[in-house]
Amino acid sequence: LLTVSHLVKNYGRQEVLHDINFTVEKGSVTVLLGPSGSGKSTTIRCLNGLEDFHSGEIQFKDQVIKPGFKKWQSVRQDIGMVFQSYDLFPNRTVIDNILLGPLKVQKRSKDEALAQARHLLKEVQLSDYENAYPRQLSGGQKQRIAIVRALALNPEFMLFDEVTASLDPEMVRGVLEVIEGLARQKMTMLVVTHEMNFAKQIADKVLFLENGKIVEESAGHEFFDHPKTQRAQEFLNSMD
Ligand code: ATP
Ligand code: MG
Repeated sequence: LLTVSHLVKNYGRQEVLHDINFTVEKGSVTVLLGPSGSGKSTTIRCLNGLEDFHSGEIQFKDQVIKPGFKKWQSVRQDIGMVFQSYDLFPNRTVIDNILLGPLKVQKRSKDEALAQARHLLKEVQLSDYENAYPRQLSGGQKQRIAIVRALALNPEFMLFDEVTASLDPEMVRGVLEVIEGLARQKMTMLVVTHEMNFAKQIADKVLFLENGKIVEESAGHEFFDHPKTQRAQEFLNSMD
C-alpha cells in the first residue's frame, strides 16, 4: 500500500532522516520503535504531508509523492492520523467533531455519516457520549473519540503516534484495545508506541529507528525475541 524510498528530511541544516526505506503491506501492522529523538514522529509526519521532505519519494496507492508535492488534500482523505494530544474542537459536541470531516470535507449525506459515526461510537463503547463536549470526557475517552473521528473518513491507512503517551495509566488499556480491534479487522497501520507488550502483540513488522536511520527491520516476534543489533537489544532492555 505504501513504499518509502530514500527519504531524507532536514530541519534547517540538520539532517534528521537519512535514507529511510520501508514498505507497508495492505492489511498489516508496522510498528516504528526507537529512542526519543530518533525520528519516529518526523517519519510519520512526512507520510501525510505535515512535513515536507528534502529528497526521496513516497508511493501511496497509485500516487508518487516527491518533495514539494501539492495534492496532499486528496491523499489525506485516505490516511488517518491520531497523535499524542487529542485535538478535538472544544466547543463542538462529540458527534459534531466526528461528523465535521465526513460532511464538510467529503460532502457525504448526513444520514449515512451519522449512522456510521454511531456505529463507530458503539465499537469504542462511547455511544452514551454523543452529545457530550470534549471537556466532559476523560483523556482515554477523548483519545477514543479522536480515533473514531479519523476512522469516520474511511481511511485506508492509519498513523498512530504515541496515542497513549499522555494518558493516565488506567486509561491506556481501553485505547490500545481499540487499536487491537482495528488490527483484527485488517486495517493497515503504522504505529509508534512505547507500550512494548502491545507492540509485540500487534506488530507484523518492526522498524527500529536510531538517529534518523532504520537500523533493524524484522518480523514482529523476531524483533522482540531475537533482536539482531546490539542497539535494539539495549533499547528493549531499557523498556522493561
Ligand atoms: P520522541 O520519542 O521523543 O517522540 P521521535 O523519535 O518522535 O522522538 P522526532 O520528533 O521525529 O523524534 O525528532 C527527530 C529529530 O528531529 C530530533 O533530533 C528533533 O530534535 C528534531 N526535530 C523534530 N521536530 C523539529 C522541528 N520542528 N524543528 C527542528 N528540529 C526538529
Ligand atoms: Mg515523537
